[in-house]
Order: sequence, then structure tokens, then C-alpha cells
Amino acid sequence: VADSADAVLLGLDPEQREVATALDGAVCVLAGAGTGKTRAITHRIAYGVRSGRLAPASVLAVTFTNRAAGEMRGRLRTLGAEGVQARTFHSAALRQLQYFWPRAVGGELPRLVERKVQLVAEAGARCRVRLDRNELRDVTGEIEWAKVTQTVPADYPAAALKAGREAPRDMAEIAQIYSTYEQLKRDRVMIDFEDVLLLTVGILEDRHDIAETVRAQYQHFVVDEYQDVSPLQQRLLELWLGDRESLCVVGDASQTIYSFTGATPDHLLDFRTRFPRATVIKLVRDYRSTPQVVHLANGLLAQARGRAAEHRLELVSQREPGPDPAYTEYPDEPAEAEGVARRIRNLIDAGVPAGEIAVLFRINAQSEVYEQALADAGVPYQLRGAERFFERQEVRNALLTLRGAARSGARDPLLDDVVGLAAQVRAVLSSIGWSQQPPAGSGAVRDRWESLAALVRLAEDFAGARPGATLADLVTELEERAAAQHAPTVQGVTLASLHAAKGLEWDAVFLVGLTDGMVPITYAKTDEQVEEERRLLYVGVTRARVHLTLSWALSRSPGGRASRRPSRFLNGLRPGSSAPARSGGLAAAPGEPGARRRSRRGPVACRVCGRTLTHAGELKLMRCEDCPSDMDEGLYERLRDWRAGRAKALGMPAYC
Ligand code: ATP
Ligand code: MG
Repeated sequence: VADSADAVLLGLDPEQREVATALDGAVCVLAGAGTGKTRAITHRIAYGVRSGRLAPASVLAVTFTNRAAGEMRGRLRTLGAEGVQARTFHSAALRQLQYFWPRAVGGELPRLVERKVQLVAEAGARCRVRLDRNELRDVTGEIEWAKVTQTVPADYPAAALKAGREAPRDMAEIAQIYSTYEQLKRDRVMIDFEDVLLLTVGILEDRHDIAETVRAQYQHFVVDEYQDVSPLQQRLLELWLGDRESLCVVGDASQTIYSFTGATPDHLLDFRTRFPRATVIKLVRDYRSTPQVVHLANGLLAQARGRAAEHRLELVSQREPGPDPAYTEYPDEPAEAEGVARRIRNLIDAGVPAGEIAVLFRINAQSEVYEQALADAGVPYQLRGAERFFERQEVRNALLTLRGAARSGARDPLLDDVVGLAAQVRAVLSSIGWSQQPPAGSGAVRDRWESLAALVRLAEDFAGARPGATLADLVTELEERAAAQHAPTVQGVTLASLHAAKGLEWDAVFLVGLTDGMVPITYAKTDEQVEEERRLLYVGVTRARVHLTLSWALSRSPGGRASRRPSRFLNGLRPGSSAPARSGGLAAAPGEPGARRRSRRGPVACRVCGRTLTHAGELKLMRCEDCPSDMDEGLYERLRDWRAGRAKALGMPAYC
């Protein structure tokens, strides 16, 4: 047993090994992106299980997203530790609530609110407050914030004011809408996402017998991404723990990107205050990214301010050097999307798998132009955070059909003469019109085909992993996945928001739309909000293993006014930009330092041809009027080479 457990430790460095083997008492891992935090806790659980020190069913691993939970379960299976619960706070709480509701309250658990924003709109209408789409979204956000910080409607205005919330409407008005929203839910016997945690906390606080039952089941807790724990989640964790200290948390304060929802890195940074005997372990070796990417990440952190920044740890790359990050400026958004799609095409042609490439943006609305450009370039892609796989109509229908076929089993004439599981699935799906050949072109028909093809791939993987499994086994597996909302991996380029990219990694990452106004986003006003935007960019940069491209467009539409500037966070980091102003608190001198500042520092050369720039417009763009506006870095280089060659042929200096 000991040998087989020790094998789990082989792929870890000494500090990670300490995380994995310190199974007694509280453990806190403070470490930067890519240092192997998630890997260390996964191996910790596997080590505990394989050494016989942890019973699988007694371990609860909490991750930030369902996808991360699914990945952890997969890794644990590979490491020979099955049966461990790896869930999000929400899904763990929902399970407990469903189980204990009849005993604690009686009857069945109320239905979950599916269209929260609609219910908030209804509450607004009852209060005679008309909210436009943006206000509706923001008021819903305020209600969510109030709930996770356990603020009742009457206390909302004071609490929101104290927390410096940017309320979209009068705070008293929001309090009234919040109260009405709660009433509407009660009238309709419904609960929302936040209620799941609130009610679980309530039951565990009030019913000691139930709390004891839960504590008897779970003896050991592991929490990933602990820097983004909300006060409500923290309370739940405390209740699960009781007076025990068998908790291991890992996090990176520099990746706190959910404070707008009430999350705070304080629990991570103050872990020793709460558990004075805790072992604190720091990791600094970055296994994910090349020295070039790590250099940029360290540069971003060096400019950060605030509490999280005080605890930053300089990363040290363990990988071979790779290409420098590319900075690319485009005249407008469609040109940017087209340029990015072209680069992606080149990477794929050079052998980088599409599934190893991601395009990350600040807000989901930015995805459309990239979807279009990738489709035009014939590059497959998947959108993360959009409609989830198992929620798609065609997947739901297919699951129903598969379930029906599994029930009728061998009696189903459709399955006569079919031996392999994947073949059975193909046969069943063909009965609802799916054929093995994809339909021509793109669009909705193709999307539906792709979804069912992904189901077939899932069946193939499942059959490979579990020889002899039946259709009924597969359906059970798929239904479990559906419950966990864990979509299968589609081998396309990932399009995702920076928030949704947390914890993930790709060989090539494109950070797009990096203008001032997008990162930091215009509505980030306070110092803390701007700092959170910087951390968001840090999260984006640290997703890349090898290739990193940062781009922005000077205007939104073709022919539009070039009024945008590259993100202020890149000042001093991207070639040709000056260091951010240090005075006046934040590094955030509004936008890029102006032409006057540069001209005081001597002549500035055009980035393309090297000619000395003369007037403010040129200085702003770092490019002379004669040079083309498509500032693709590759184009620069080709132009520079061409001009140098031409100048040489003419016997003139290179910058002519
Ligand atoms: P994030 O902060 O982004 O969540 P993380 O600290 O959780 O990052 P992981 O995702 O666990 O980092 O690891 C980053 C990458 O480095 C992964 O591909 C992982 O497999 C690899 N890695 C981690 N530790 C080691 C190691 N000791 N040897 C080799 N590869 C490692
Ligand atoms: Mg991680």
C-alpha cells in the first residue's frame, strides 16, 4: 500500500510533496498561477486514499466550477482514488439540502428559480420601478451580492454604501425590489442559487443533529481557488468543519477576480489567524508557462497595489524558453478578429491542436466577432459559458431516446445485431435523424450535429474505459454528467471570458480587445475595482503555456474614429510604451501617457520605419503617417526588413 501511495508523489516537487503528505491539521498553500496548486491537492487526496489514511467517501474536495470538479474526479480516477466527492460549494450544498430537506423542513425541496432576471423584473414592476436591461442585470447582481454577504433587504443600503458598491439605482429602491423578489419566491415556493447555500447554512446552524450527520460523513476538506471564497461559502465550510482542523486550502491572492460577488482573499491571507497551528506552504516554481510568459506575468504583478499585491510571489518558470509575447494593434475590431483568426489558422497549420488554443475576452458580448472570423477561417471553436452542453435541446432529446432504448434493452429491434456500445449509440441516434456524415456548412444544423457527435465520442470513450458496460450504464453516466453540467471536450478553439478561464491552461492564448475601457472596464472606478481588472489580466496572461498574443483595436468599426488606447496595464510592459506613472496612488494614469511626456524624453521613432515622429497624432500611435495602420507585428518585421534591404540597395541609412 505504501509503495503504491508513494508512486503518487513521484510527479511532485518537494513543496508540493509536503502539501500532499501533510494530512493532519490545517494546511494553507499560497502560490502563484501555474505552480501546481490544483495538482498538489489532487495528489494529496490520491495519496491519502491510496495510503489508507483517508476513506474516499470521507473526503470533500471543493472546486470553483463544475468543469474543474469534473476534471478533478477524472484525475483522481487516473491516480487510483475513486469515490471522492469533488464538487462546487453550490452542488455540494444542493445535494445536502435535497437529502436533509424532508427531515429538516418536511415535503420536497422547492423548485429552483430558472429565470432569475425575469423574477427581478417582475419585482421591479410591482415596486413601480422600470428597469432597462443593464439596470436589471445590475440590480440582480446587487441582490446576489446582498445574499452572499448575508445582508437582509432592510440593511442593504447601509451595507452597500459601506462596501462602496456602485448601485445602478437608488439603494432604497433596490432594497425594496430585493424584498419584493424574496416575497415573490416565497409565494411561488421557489428558491434561487444563493438560497441553496443560505438554507444549507441555516439548517446546519439550527439542527445540530443534521450538522453532526454531515460531519460524521465528511472528515477531510480540500478547497481550490480559496482566494475567491464568499462569506457565505466560508460560513458553510466552517459548519462542515465544526471544531476540527482537517482542512487544506490553496489559492493565489493575485487571482482574486470575483470580489464583485462578495468574494474576498482575506480568508486565505488570514488563514493563520483562524488556524494558528496551520502549516503554510509557498510554491514559486511555475510549471505551466515559458520564461517569457512568466516575465510578463511578474511584470503585471509588480505594478499591482492593494492587499493581494502585498502577498505576491515572484514566479520562476521551469519551462524551456519560447517565443516572446506578441503585441498587436489593429485599426478596428473586425480587423482584429480576422488577424487573430489568421494567426490561429497558422498555429493549427503548424501543428498546434485547435483544442490547445484559446481566445479570451473581457465580456461575453465580444465573442461574436471572433465566432464569425473563426467560422470564416474554417476553424472549429467552442464557446465556454454559453449554453451548456447537456442543456441543449438536441442533447436532451438524445438522452431521452437513449434512456428509452436502455430500458427496452435487448428487446429493442433497433439494437438487434448491434455488439459494441458506441455502435448501439450510433444506431439509436440514427433513429432520430443523426447520420455519421456531418451536414455541409456551418450554422445551427451543424451545431446540432456536432453536439450529437460529441455524445457519440463520449460513448466511445466510456466504452473504451469500461469494457462490457451496457447502454444503461452509459445513460447513468451521462445523466450524472448532465447533473454536474460537465460538457465533454470538443476539439475546437476555446472562446471564453477571462473569468471563465480561471484555473485552465492552453498552449496558445489570445488576449483580445485589450483597450483602456475594456481592461480595465469602464465601470471599474474605485482603486480596488481597477486593481481587480489588473488581476483579471494576470489571470489571462498566466493561462498560456507557450504562445501568448495580446491585441487591441483602435476603433470599434471599420472606418471608425481611432479613439481607443491600449490597456494602461500594458504600459511599461509592451515594447514602445513608457512605464506607468508611479505618483498619485494607483499606476492608473488615465490611458497611455500623452505625447508631451514622451517628447520630453527625446525623439521617438516610428515603430515601422524608424523615422522620427513629429506631431501628437503620430506620437499617440507610435507610427508615422506614411506607415500602414494594420500594425500586425509580423507586418512590422517584414516592412522593416524590406525597408532595410531597400535602403541598403540604395546605399542609404536603414530608416529612410
Ligand atoms: P492556477 O493558479 O492557474 O489554478 P495551479 O497552481 O493550480 O494554477 P496547476 O494547474 O496545478 O497549477 O499546474 C499547472 C501546470 O503545471 C499543469 O499542467 C500541471 O500538470 C503542471 N505541473 C504542476 N506541477 C508540476 C510538477 N511538479 N511537474 C511537472 N508538471 C507540473
Ligand atoms: Mg489551479
